[in-house]
Amino acid sequence: MLPKRILLVEDEQHIAKGIIFNLEHESYHVVHEETARAALAQLRQNHFDLVILDRMLPDSPDGLEVCAQIRALDAQIPILMLTAMGREQDKIDGLQYGADDYLTKPFNLSELLLRVSGMLRRAQWYRTRPTGESFPLGEWQINLSTGETSNNSAMFILTELELRMLRLFIEHQGEILSRSFLLKAAWGLAPDTETRTLDNFIVRLRKYFEPDPTRPIHFVTMRGKGYVFRG
Ligand code: CA
Repeated sequence: MLPKRILLVEDEQHIAKGIIFNLEHESYHVVHEETARAALAQLRQNHFDLVILDRMLPDSPDGLEVCAQIRALDAQIPILMLTAMGREQDKIDGLQYGADDYLTKPFNLSELLLRVSGMLRRAQWYRTRPTGESFPLGEWQINLSTGETSNNSAMFILTELELRMLRLFIEHQGEILSRSFLLKAAWGLAPDTETRTLDNFIVRLRKYFEPDPTRPIHFVTMRGKGYVFRG
């Protein structure tokens, strides 16, 4: 099997060095760029299996805009965003601009490796599923393999992680899914991980699919228990 290709976009040398060393040790092929401009050029010319993207880059556009542009080029490629400590809004922004997950600096390199391998494994799983399976939700038809979602007048594509969460909900329709179940099943995270990622994704799914996101009928919060999906 060919080594997975990872694009690392990070301008801080000491951080980049540590990441590259660890990824290469796990037999990934790493291409490193320090600027937004060079990263986007790489993505237009070469194939990558995953992108690790620093939120704060020295040039323009910034990490968020790069993230959005990557999504425009490739709806499915997993994007792991690196954000500065304590900037909660950065994380939410990153996810809204199409990142699948984030790590807050400073992070543990073994945690980074765990996230990367999990993201690649799930991306692979989705690529090998048969196409054409379609699920109706309200006015939308969702292709559960490609993430293509359309109604009479519009079309958009769910990211890999949005699609994964949605599949989990569909597979367990009507059941209460706990936060720890979702964290483990969707991200491979330890059930007691403190993260707002999950809630941010629920917010996104509601924004896409709820007639009124402030009064959800599909992705319903069960206070103190988790979430339940009703198609
Ligand atoms: Ca930086």
